[in-house]
Amino acid sequence: MSVFQCPECGYRFDEEVGDTHEGYKPGTKFHTLPDDFACPDCAVRFKEDFVEA
Ligand SMILES: [Zn+2]
Repeated sequence: MSVFQCPECGYRFDEEVGDTHEGYKPGTKFHTLPDDFACPDCAVRFKEDFVEA
């Protein structure tokens, strides 16, 4: 399991935890998120911008 971080605001997507508030169950792999996934916090960064933490 990995953690991916938004370079803009620091929001972290932890695959182990998911983001139930956004509808992603625990264990959701980052690469399975939709291609148009945008950062839930700042909304100005997209999936391709996230970096593995
Ligand atoms: Zn962000």
